[in-house]
Amino acid sequence: MSRVYNFSAGPAVLPEEVLKEAADEMLDYQGSGMSVMEMSHRSKTYDNIIKEAEKDLRELMNIPDNYKVLFLQGGASQQFAMIPMNLMKNKVADYIITGQWAKKAWKEAQIYGKANAIASSEDKTFSYIPDCSDLPVSDDADYVYICENNTIYGTKFKTLPNTKGKTLVADVSSCFLSEPVDVTKYGVIYGGVQKNIGPAGVVIVIIREDLITEDVLPGTPTMLKYKTHADAESLYNTPPAYGIYICGKVFKWIKKMGGLEAMKERNEKKAKILYDFLDSSKLFKGTVEKDSRSLMNVPFVTGNDELDAKFVKEAAACGLVSLKGHRTVGGMRASIYNAMPIEGVEALVEFMKKFEEENA
Ligand SMILES: *Cc1c(COP(=O)(O)O)cnc(C)c1O
Repeated sequence: MSRVYNFSAGPAVLPEEVLKEAADEMLDYQGSGMSVMEMSHRSKTYDNIIKEAEKDLRELMNIPDNYKVLFLQGGASQQFAMIPMNLMKNKVADYIITGQWAKKAWKEAQIYGKANAIASSEDKTFSYIPDCSDLPVSDDADYVYICENNTIYGTKFKTLPNTKGKTLVADVSSCFLSEPVDVTKYGVIYGGVQKNIGPAGVVIVIIREDLITEDVLPGTPTMLKYKTHADAESLYNTPPAYGIYICGKVFKWIKKMGGLEAMKERNEKKAKILYDFLDSSKLFKGTVEKDSRSLMNVPFVTGNDELDAKFVKEAAACGLVSLKGHRTVGGMRASIYNAMPIEGVEALVEFMKKFEEENA
């Protein structure tokens, strides 16, 4: 067996310890004589798995009692519709456009009401986070929406926008559990887990209870109402059972690593290794303004498409894989999520140094 350093943006690297544990339990989960994959979601054993996953997540993020934790399906993209369907009481919402995912969410919301773009960084190919301290937030906006970490462009909100009292909704798919978070600043925090937490197929929604009502847009399907899932504690229908089980293991792994403070420290250390090199390199350069840099997704270029392609190919041959940038931006992108060991980042920088010398 040989494992690579996987820099994929998602689905992405998971802690090896978690994968080994899952392998050990594959045929017989804790004496049940079956795999978690084969188990009824109504069984006592499974109930313990999902309840414990929620408990550990609540502990990690310090989630107050007046917030529900929902384990749903449909990916982050389904939330682009579910959010307006459930929250647009006035049929008005404000969106901050910092990349492709925010833009998709904004477009989707336009199906259901008036979705205003109140700020954007598209003028400079989304290479920065706009100043959000005094935006023209609409008086009747039901919420203000952000994509907190922009997976494709490699930017992250370092301070949350001033929503002028409006509910903040955040897509945290690619920065989930990467650092401590003050849940009380948000109405909804959600993310697909396949970037930083688990296998594709689960989306976690953390939502303040007063936002969960029957008063949703007419025609909203039962499965797309937060209330349906909140009332049934994420077991209205069959949940993505195996995926939730793996998420639970990752929560335990993060707890063991020291929680979100420790994750932040570790992530800052890893990102610094890469950014410091990019800042000193004669060949490679980062594409993002310094004060907007993400700890999770690091895009960089040589400025020469052929050389970029050569780099991606040669890196893969050395066990440093999935470094190709998103198809819409080109160049390279190293995603260095929680589970990427520091050795992986060090190996990448060593390889970049060697490549730079050989291609000077
Ligand atoms: C990957 C990603 C999405 C889309 O996730 P799906 O689960 O594929 O729908 C949305 N937002 C962000 C920030 C992402 O990184």
